[in-house]
Amino acid sequence: MTTHTGPRIGSGSLVIATHNSGKLKEISALLEPHGVKCLSAGSLGLPEPAETGKTFAENALIKARASAEASGMAALADDSGLSVTALGGRPGVYTADWAERQWFEGEPGRDWYMAMGKIEGLLAEKGPDAPRDAWFSCVLALAWPDGESAVYEGRINGSLTWPPRGTLGFGYDPVFLPQGREQTFAELKPEEKHAMSHRADAFRKLVAEQFG
Ligand code: IMP
Repeated sequence: MTTHTGPRIGSGSLVIATHNSGKLKEISALLEPHGVKCLSAGSLGLPEPAETGKTFAENALIKARASAEASGMAALADDSGLSVTALGGRPGVYTADWAERQWFEGEPGRDWYMAMGKIEGLLAEKGPDAPRDAWFSCVLALAWPDGESAVYEGRINGSLTWPPRGTLGFGYDPVFLPQGREQTFAELKPEEKHAMSHRADAFRKLVAEQFG
């Protein structure tokens, strides 16, 4: 048995460093059974810092620390993305950026099919024998106003398939085949994906250490 000596969330309020209401809902559902009241950075009017880190952990810490400092409360942030072995781990922390539609002026938004096609194109350039292994990462960072922090890393290994399959999920789900499965993340029932995902892995680690 290990004894946890680091900082703990306890049963107080926690700022979720996101302006995305879907993420707030998902994270609240996971933490509220542990007596934690979740408030969003958006609803508190907290600033959104630029994600200038070179790793998922750096970006998650930047977001968690900015919310903890501005609110005076403990804060939780996440950062996630897809890494492709044959592309040296790209897109990695730039996963969301690869879907940015830069050329449609005045029409901001993300085009996941374009992003999946870009990855497939780069893999094709590597030749037919290039490995198609990939993994999703999710890092959760907790930060307290006194400067303490804790980081939990989750991961799911898999491979990339082409063409994209399935209509469920979001982002790069239609091309990601989790290891040992024949269905893509976008073909699996949401509860099946949520039980095995990189996000679930990171949350299991956080819950075990914070509430175990
Ligand atoms: P962020 O964590 O909000 O910065 O977003 C990272 C990007 O990674 C998202 O916009 C998604 O495109 C991608 N991503 C993260 N998790 C998943 C997932 O479970 N399925 C598909 N795409 C994901």
